[in-house]
Amino acid sequence: MIGIANKDSIAYGCAKAFHAEGAELAVSYLNAKAEPYVRPLAEGLNASIVEPLDVRVPGQLEALFERVRKDWGRLDFLVHAIAFAPMADLHGRVVDSSWDGFAQAMDISCHSFVRMAKLAEPLMDKGGALLTMSYIGAAKAMRDYGMMGAVKSTLESCVRYMALELGEKGIRVNAISPGPIRTRASGGLKNFDASIEDAAAKAPLPLAGIDDVGALAAFLASDGARAITGQTCYVDGGYSIVG
Ligand code: NAD
Repeated sequence: MIGIANKDSIAYGCAKAFHAEGAELAVSYLNAKAEPYVRPLAEGLNASIVEPLDVRVPGQLEALFERVRKDWGRLDFLVHAIAFAPMADLHGRVVDSSWDGFAQAMDISCHSFVRMAKLAEPLMDKGGALLTMSYIGAAKAMRDYGMMGAVKSTLESCVRYMALELGEKGIRVNAISPGPIRTRASGGLKNFDASIEDAAAKAPLPLAGIDDVGALAAFLASDGARAITGQTCYVDGGYSIVG
């Protein structure tokens, strides 16, 4: 489970759902500053592996997967729920985005999922499920989502290509696209309060919370979803269908 920062994190909603289904979990935390917030949540979920992971730090991702290989020998599912973009680039126009900011956002929010898939592949010898988090800003140009929309579009495309490549091994790859949810990361988006109010007013159902995302994630990792791969699955109270 990659991406728990606190109890509001989408990854925590997913972890709770997987735990309720009886899964044994490995949980990562960003760094020493994040550990005191994440470790108690991981302990509450009886996570047997709790390790640091900053995807920018060379070797840390490999060390986490090596621990999983040593302790468990295999892996059934992986949830990638991380994103980052420098504030100046996130709040600016795509047209003005810096090379460095774009590259960082792409590396942390998108290519890290590709690297995780590569390390997960040999551990998913009986098949498995790889999940990541996207947003409607991948499919439509949304005011206030900016550069992250381009990054999420690439992420969704990687999901399709990796689904194509890994299908023969029984490994399914899907993106989940939640509607706006108040979390630490979304708090960094421009005008987020207005976006969530607008979405809540338009959506036919109440907007999804982290437990709704968790329920979908647990389903997508289950045998019931055995014929679903390469998709972007929306869980947003129907916000994405409204014009
Ligand atoms: P969050 O702040 O709780 O989680 C973001 C996580 O990214 C944090 O745990 C943080 O430590 C991690 N992270 C950032 N840089 C990292 C790095 N270099 N290495 C490892 N981890 C790193 O926020 P969230 O809203 O739960 O975000 C989770 C995912 O859901 C993101 O991909 C986000 O884009 C996506 N998402 C969020 C919303 C929303 O409205 N909150 C909607 C759709 C999609």
